[in-house]
Amino acid sequence: MSDFNQPLGGNEMPRFGGPVTMMRLPAQETAEGLDACFIGIPMDIGASNRPGTRLGPRQIRDESRMLRPYNMATGAAPFEKLQVADIGDVPINTFDLKKSVDIITAHYRGVLAHDVVPLTLGGDHTLTWPILRAIKEKHGPVALVHVDAHADINDEMFGEKVAHGCPFRRAWEDGCLLNDKVFQIGLRGTGYSPEDFNWSRDKGWTVVQAEECWYQSLKPLMERVRAAIGEAPVYLTFDIDSLDPAFAPGTGTVEPGGLSTWQGLEIVRGCAGLNLVGGDLVEVSPPYDPTGNTALIGANLLYEMLCVLPGVQ
Ligand code: MN
Ligand code: MN
Repeated sequence: MSDFNQPLGGNEMPRFGGPVTMMRLPAQETAEGLDACFIGIPMDIGASNRPGTRLGPRQIRDESRMLRPYNMATGAAPFEKLQVADIGDVPINTFDLKKSVDIITAHYRGVLAHDVVPLTLGGDHTLTWPILRAIKEKHGPVALVHVDAHADINDEMFGEKVAHGCPFRRAWEDGCLLNDKVFQIGLRGTGYSPEDFNWSRDKGWTVVQAEECWYQSLKPLMERVRAAIGEAPVYLTFDIDSLDPAFAPGTGTVEPGGLSTWQGLEIVRGCAGLNLVGGDLVEVSPPYDPTGNTALIGANLLYEMLCVLPGVQ
């Protein structure tokens, strides 16, 4: 018997029954005693196009029910090394985005009072900025692995500073990032001007457009990412719209020509050995995901994040 929490197994309770927590793990109110936690942010009021990500955390939890504890590809057995639980959702104010980002920062301040790595189920991408503010208070500025179809560095959207297209502009302004250790991977599609991606490059960030990823393994890219980041604390933010809509159509801001699921796995698995201090999986929109496949891929990527946390490998 392990000393650590275990996901409820499929031979103890049918997988379509039992608790609707992430991986059917035990639920608890706080992060006390945990090495890692799953936490949901049911929010879509920062979305600019199709809504629905407020339902993302629930659907990701539901579609996580088939996840078994052992990683057949990497050999990771996270529940033999870490104490993990699902600590529920952040009670955002769904009528006020500006209040919600402050609620999120305050909530993560409480979570990070414990020695825990939070893995967040989103929610629209606005949420990464308030998380990074809390992360900075604990860890200082961090390296960033940002997987997305979009740069999310707009100064404003519709005249507003807080939106799901702005989080990394705000994080940069707040000094949350180590600018020579920021990687944006999978960017593509139409823009307003070259500036849409060059703003990032001008800050010293590395932009890897989707076309640079086509037809190849991303293992060499991740070797370069690891070499550049070294020992620095790093945050991994994975927007599900980085994947091609053939794989992950259930999201709000779809762009063709994206990454494959196996490239997404290579990116997350390629973070093994880094000093990960947090991660999120955002922009799953269940109303546009009738098969559940997008949420299922999201659940798997969150499990893969758990498998590369320090202390697992
Ligand atoms: Mn995004
Ligand atoms: Mn995106």
